[in-house]
Amino acid sequence: MEVPFIDLDIQYEEIKNEIKPVLENIYKKGDFILGEEVSQFEKEFADYCGVDYGVGVNSGTDSLFLALKAFDIGEGDEVIVPAFTYAASSLAISYTGAKPVFCDIKEDSYNINPELIEEEITDNTKAIMVVHLYGQAADMEPILEVADKHNLKIIEDCAQAHGCLYRGTQIGTNGKEQINTDKERKVGSFGDVGCFSFYPTKNLGSFGDGGMVITKDKEVRDKLRMLRNYGRKDKYHHVDIGYNSRLDTVQAAVLRVKLNYLKEWNDERKKNAKLYNKKLSSVQDVITPTEKEYSRHVYHVYALRIKNDGRDKAVEKLKDNGIGVIIHYPIPLHLQPVYEDLGYKKGDFPVSERIASEVLSLPVYPGIKEEQIDYVVKVIKQIVHSS
Ligand SMILES: *Cc1c(COP(=O)(O)O)cnc(C)c1O
Repeated sequence: MEVPFIDLDIQYEEIKNEIKPVLENIYKKGDFILGEEVSQFEKEFADYCGVDYGVGVNSGTDSLFLALKAFDIGEGDEVIVPAFTYAASSLAISYTGAKPVFCDIKEDSYNINPELIEEEITDNTKAIMVVHLYGQAADMEPILEVADKHNLKIIEDCAQAHGCLYRGTQIGTNGKEQINTDKERKVGSFGDVGCFSFYPTKNLGSFGDGGMVITKDKEVRDKLRMLRNYGRKDKYHHVDIGYNSRLDTVQAAVLRVKLNYLKEWNDERKKNAKLYNKKLSSVQDVITPTEKEYSRHVYHVYALRIKNDGRDKAVEKLKDNGIGVIIHYPIPLHLQPVYEDLGYKKGDFPVSERIASEVLSLPVYPGIKEEQIDYVVKVIKQIVHSS
């Protein structure tokens, strides 16, 4: 049996009859960049997340970069970011000239450990970039508290967490307004901005690159609109060194159709994750993911941990048996060659380092069949029992 890591054709089959006429219409109108569909999708996606404004941009990476620029973060500034995330999170910080300052994660959620944030704060710290890794919300309540106390911006990297919900227990504040964390709300609506990627394999993916920043702040929205479009205020007045980072109309049209399916697809990911959890619950050396009480996980990634140095062998055996498996991510960011000059060393973030050596991601995409899940489980059991 073959089990690919992801099968996008299953999604396409479900939506193709809706997509084709919409695309045909765009081709005929020739309205390719920042067209009508873009502003409609910006409204619809912001609304879906429970905030007022969305600004469509070129990619998830650019959504983070432009959000940092919108807060004038750059040379001399520091931004706190988890050591265990995809490299795009910290690269976006580096593009601005600011310094990424890494922070360790929690062993159970794989997200930033709120208790460790404060010791990373200096006079130069301007923001915390929170990543909702794998589709599980980071614990926002204590993070909002630290940010409020030190007057820091919160940038949420939601690239893996479209539709994920978070619920705390109290009423927090982010400096300007009260945040009712005791009500369940979508990630991206807690911080100053929420940043999304629509890379094709994300939970909500386009037919190319795409991204969006969502915000409740009209001024931030206006700044982002300017930054994504050559820094211009109107056609010929350039008031800032802006960029070319726009969401194109075709992607927005695809995303508008797919947004209607997001809940169904997220529910399916969750159902698949629960099947794996059940079938793998008592297998030795295997740790299944934990869904925290404050988070409604959307399983962009189903990350399994294999204890006792068994991960690399397991990956090899899964591949040999026709199973698509990926490691998200084998090297924590503080140990990446690109960040050598920041002076971090092995042992600085022990939890990130250990998790990076134990995780592997199994296929969990909407449309995977239960027989395929059973086959993956069977192979995993063979691997651990033969070791
Ligand atoms: C995918 C991803 C990004 C980058 O998004 P792109 O659209 O590929 O630029 C950023 N952060 C995280 C956590 C991601 O998973």
